Amino acid sequence: MIRFLPLGGADEVGASCFYLNFDGTGILLDCGIHPQKTKIDSLPKFELIQNEPIDFLFISHAHLDHIGALPFLIKKFPYLKIYTTKQTLEIARLTLHNTVRIPNEKLSGTSNELLYDHDDIDLILRSAIEMEYEKALEIIGLRHSNNDSIKVTFYDAGHILGSASILIEYQNRRIFYTGDIKLSPQTIMSGAVLPDKPVDILITESTYAATDSEKVGNIKSEEDKLIKEANRIIHSGGSVLIPVFSLGKMQEVLMFLHNKMKRSKLTEAEIFTGGISRKLAHLYDLNRYLVNRNFEKIKLSEIEQINYFDVVNPDYYKKHPSIVLASSGMMIENTMSNKLMKYWLHHKSFGIFIVGYMDPSTPGYKISNSTQGEEIEIDKKTKVNCSVNRFHFPSHSTREELLEIAEKLKPSRVILIHGEPEGKDWFGHQILKSNQNVKVNSASVGNSIILSSEN
Ligand SMILES: [Zn+2]
Ligand SMILES: [Zn+2]
Repeated sequence: MIRFLPLGGADEVGASCFYLNFDGTGILLDCGIHPQKTKIDSLPKFELIQNEPIDFLFISHAHLDHIGALPFLIKKFPYLKIYTTKQTLEIARLTLHNTVRIPNEKLSGTSNELLYDHDDIDLILRSAIEMEYEKALEIIGLRHSNNDSIKVTFYDAGHILGSASILIEYQNRRIFYTGDIKLSPQTIMSGAVLPDKPVDILITESTYAATDSEKVGNIKSEEDKLIKEANRIIHSGGSVLIPVFSLGKMQEVLMFLHNKMKRSKLTEAEIFTGGISRKLAHLYDLNRYLVNRNFEKIKLSEIEQINYFDVVNPDYYKKHPSIVLASSGMMIENTMSNKLMKYWLHHKSFGIFIVGYMDPSTPGYKISNSTQGEEIEIDKKTKVNCSVNRFHFPSHSTREELLEIAEKLKPSRVILIHGEPEGKDWFGHQILKSNQNVKVNSASVGNSIILSSEN
């Protein structure tokens, strides 16, 4: 029997974690935290698998909503074997140490047995095993009830450095888990690779299924729009703030700006970056010939950029037209992008560019929905004097690309995860419209789906 059970990340973006049981072998796909939730609510519901066999964990990529709960999971199931790509492990060595303080603070007082430290993280990551793209691994769990092994293969998901989709083959079934997937190329990442044969079951993300692509325009026109607006602001003596996620979006936007400046499409201006995103950019450089990507000859760390932590007085940005790539991506409190945004709001000639997903609970969401001249509530009532523009620079598949993946892989069952209910509804409906024989499930936490009852 094959059984699928979501522990988190079914109806939302956050705390992705999915359990699969293949005749007694227990496999987990991802173990993320929910960045907008606190304490125990930010973790996947590990208690649902307390009495299940658990042998292996496969991690699709290093965003915290897919890997952030790893230390907690290992506290509960220390014997678990962990597999992921070399690049995801390298990123995790940088980013998971940064989480030691935050989730421990978030969790303190609720579940002391889950607290972890830097040594725990070193130990976990040292024991993890590297997976190469398109190289199958055969596994079998301790309590497996027959002699048929399970085959696992990683495919490049085109989302961020080291990201993977995961194909699991068992007996006569092929199950494909997309992880976070970007089918078409971004500036650096060159687009997802799909298995060349159809699959039976597709477990697919649906982050942008709710976004009407006609309203946001194609990538080329969005790029042109961004460059035009950046030139306008720089020429008028203002500066541009682009809030970015430190992993993925920062590196993509930096490469994009560099290419445009090199070709004289974008007016030369000082570029500011800082924090962990610079270390992550270095990992993109170190791996540039090892992964499938574009512009592999250009090192991100050699692009001229100034550390924003070296700017003592933000009036600097008034005197020197600049482009600042600051994290966090959603401008949450106590981050550089939040601090700069409050300064930016006072200056008419300045502009804020929104290039990523904004959770409705964040300050970034308020900013991205505001217009110049409007009053909004950020700490206190504040007038938005600067311009605010949104540009669609997705690192997830668009809704058309999601459908294209389903059409290419011809599954007889599709399980929708990692998206808001509205988007999942649209996606499920479209799949059924093109083929009524496909079974579509909207995954929900705690509800098992039997994928095969054979044994
Ligand atoms: Zn991701
Ligand atoms: Zn995700």
